[in-house]
Amino acid sequence: MHLGAIEAGGTKMVLAVADENMHILHRRTLPTRTPEETVPEMIAFFQAHPVQALGIGSFGPVDLNPSSPTFGYITKTPKLHWRDFPLVPSFERALGIPCVLDTDVNAAALCEAEMGAGKSLKNCVYVTVGTGIGGGVYCEGALVHGLMHPEVGHMLLRAHPDDPAPEGFCPYHKGCLEGVASGPAMEKRWGVSAKELPADHPAWALEAHYLSQMCMNLIMTVSPEKIILGGGVMSQRHLFPMIRQETLRLLNGYVACIEQADDLIVPPACFPDSGLIGAVLLAKNAR
Ligand code: ADP
Ligand code: ZN
Repeated sequence: MHLGAIEAGGTKMVLAVADENMHILHRRTLPTRTPEETVPEMIAFFQAHPVQALGIGSFGPVDLNPSSPTFGYITKTPKLHWRDFPLVPSFERALGIPCVLDTDVNAAALCEAEMGAGKSLKNCVYVTVGTGIGGGVYCEGALVHGLMHPEVGHMLLRAHPDDPAPEGFCPYHKGCLEGVASGPAMEKRWGVSAKELPADHPAWALEAHYLSQMCMNLIMTVSPEKIILGGGVMSQRHLFPMIRQETLRLLNGYVACIEQADDLIVPPACFPDSGLIGAVLLAKNAR
C-alpha cells in the first residue's frame, strides 16, 4: 500500500509517497505559488506515483469540522490566493482517493507522538516556536480537535517586569505567547534577528521565561507526559536547560511527580520531517 503526504507551507509544498511502514519512496518540493499553478503540479506528482490515500498537514486556518459546508477548505488565510480554497475536494476529485486534512502543527504532533519523542506515550504536546507559535495536543492517544483545534500560541501570559515590549506583537491579543515569544517577536523587541542574538543576551532568559509559562500552563491543563519543543527558535539548544529550570521554578513543587524536567521538556525526534511523516500517518488513518 502506498500513502501520499503533503506538507503544505506558505513558501513551499513538500510532497511524498511512503509505504505502510512509513518509508519514504518518493519526495518532491515545490514553491507555493497560486493554487491554479501549484495544485496541478501536486496532482501530477501523485498521478506519476499513485497512492491509495492522501494526508495533508497544511498552513491554516483550515476548516476541520465534518458537518461544515467548507469542510477541508483553507479558510481566512492572509495568503490571499489560497483564501477559501477547497483543498481536500480538489485532491479527492482529481485523484479519486480519500484525503485527510489537518493543520501542519497537528501533523507534526501526530508524528512526534506516535513515532518520535513521544512514542509509546498517550499524552503529549508538540509546540513549534518559529515564525508563529503553534501546538498540537495528543490526548489519550489522539489529536485534540474539539471546537476547532488548540491554539496554544495565543494563550495569554503574565508580562515579565523587565520586558521592554510586554504587550508583544500579536495583532489580535495583548501579551499572548506568540506575540511575545515567536521569532519575529524577538526580532521586533531586540532589533536583531533571533538567529543573531548571542547566547548571553538577556533575550534568551526572557524567551525561556515565557516558554516556561507556556509549559506550566500546558502541564496544568492537559497533563502531558512530554512537551516536545521544535521550530527555528528551538534550534538554540541552550534554551532547553533554561526552560526546564524555569518551569520547575514556576511549578514550585506543586506537581509532586515532576522532580526534574530533562525527560519532560525535549526536542523533537523526527525533525525536519515531523510534519511530512505526520501527513503520511493522516493518510494511513483515511477510510
Ligand atoms: P516557520 O515557522 O516559518 O515554518 P521556522 O520554524 O524556521 O520556520 O521559524 C522561523 C523563525 O525562527 C524566524 O523568526 C527566525 O528568526 C527564527 N529562527 C530560525 N532559525 C533560528 C535559529 N537558529 N536561532 C534562532 N532563531 C531562529
Ligand atoms: Zn495572539
